Amino acid sequence: MIVAVDDTDSIRGNCTTFLATEIIKELSDFDLIGNPRLIRLNPAVPWKTRGNGSLVMEFGIGKGEKHLIGVINGKEIFCFNESEEINVDFNSIIKRIIPLIEKYHESDANPGCVVSSGKPDPVFYKKGLYTILRRSDVDSELERIGASVFTIGNGMGLIGCTCGMAWIPKDSTYELLAYRMPEKWGTPRSFESQSIRKMDFDYPSTFNNWEEREQKVAMVPSTPCPVLYGLRGDVMEDLIPASESIISEEKYRWMIFLTNQGTDDHIRTEFDTLVPNSSYLLRGTVISYAERIRGGHSFIDIDTDFGKITCGAYEPSKEFRYVFDHLIPGDVVEVMGEYREDPSTLNVEKIHVISLEKEKKKISNPICPNCGKPMHSVGKNQGYRCKPCHTKSNDCVYEDVFRWIVPGWYEPPTAARRHLSKPLKRMGLEQLIEFVNCRNE
Ligand code: ATP
Repeated sequence: MIVAVDDTDSIRGNCTTFLATEIIKELSDFDLIGNPRLIRLNPAVPWKTRGNGSLVMEFGIGKGEKHLIGVINGKEIFCFNESEEINVDFNSIIKRIIPLIEKYHESDANPGCVVSSGKPDPVFYKKGLYTILRRSDVDSELERIGASVFTIGNGMGLIGCTCGMAWIPKDSTYELLAYRMPEKWGTPRSFESQSIRKMDFDYPSTFNNWEEREQKVAMVPSTPCPVLYGLRGDVMEDLIPASESIISEEKYRWMIFLTNQGTDDHIRTEFDTLVPNSSYLLRGTVISYAERIRGGHSFIDIDTDFGKITCGAYEPSKEFRYVFDHLIPGDVVEVMGEYREDPSTLNVEKIHVISLEKEKKKISNPICPNCGKPMHSVGKNQGYRCKPCHTKSNDCVYEDVFRWIVPGWYEPPTAARRHLSKPLKRMGLEQLIEFVNCRNE
């Protein structure tokens, strides 16, 4: 039995992942099959609250191996790899979930909840990542699979539920979400930054939790939601001791979710045209120098198979913008990011500098091979001539300009990365040079 829920929170509070833990607690007469899933969908969806996350859980009667994946109100929660066949009345399950959604949703959210035995066609996962869907696009699919549904408001949450349920993980990661004691919700969080720094070094399979260059914690939200922190990593078994090593205020509960975060699943690599509100990998040749506009945003133009594309690196991406500053016409790059229609730009999340043009600076007019002295210009576009011996030449003397960038991949600092963006660490790479060491903004 699959249970999916989405669109319960708003910037004012609540969190759909917390609601998922409440559902797990409510349905404790069943076993969890696999980890609960936190699936990030199209980051370009205009009506998302923050990270466009959808929550999907599978319940059944567990068989085979079980793994510890959380603690809810002092009780250990396990998940099983497989389930026995079960027969349940989905409507009775929905009735048990409704009071939880009613309690844990914000009044301006549009919750959707789905309970079903089958899953939507896997194509809905890619549609949820690449396109902007309407309710009608998913309603017929939910009907086809015989799902029971519950909605509040316009029920847009059903879109996230459907697309999240359709995920068949290829690449995947984990996130251990720790929650605060309810009386602390909305107050400043208390934790020791240095214990997070140590955790980051001690557990190399974790990522996006600490920003070494800025010496900043990246895993603790600042919103009034119930989350204390989200600890991301590749190896589920590492997350429990890694979390235990963090010194913080008391935890109310914690749960490890399987996610598509840090996978680049939202990036389209095969396409015929560029459609706004979708994210792409594009290759092109730089055709302009970087231009900074008010607010600190930086832009360059590249020539691609789809014509001229303006690429943007925005102020929150801090030193990532310096990559743009160091590029010159002729450089060849690959950029990844969301294509926006108005203004028509690619919002760059990661850049691969493939090759660099040689930059030359003129240091003198041609030197006369006979007299060893600089020649004089004859006139505009008419070359040079040596006054004493009348030798002619067009070959000025140039020197190579040092390029403050090298080919390779570059990414924004942790705090400015998208949930879905694959960090260089997960690609087995490191940012090539600290070309920003001497510059601070
Ligand atoms: P948080 O990350 O804080 O949990 P959120 O960013 O997930 O919040 P939601 O409140 O869940 O924001 O709102 C996202 C809304 O967008 C949901 O209603 C979801 O169903 C819908 N949605 C998700 N993907 C798409 C898509 N591709 N097209 C149209 N709507 C979508």
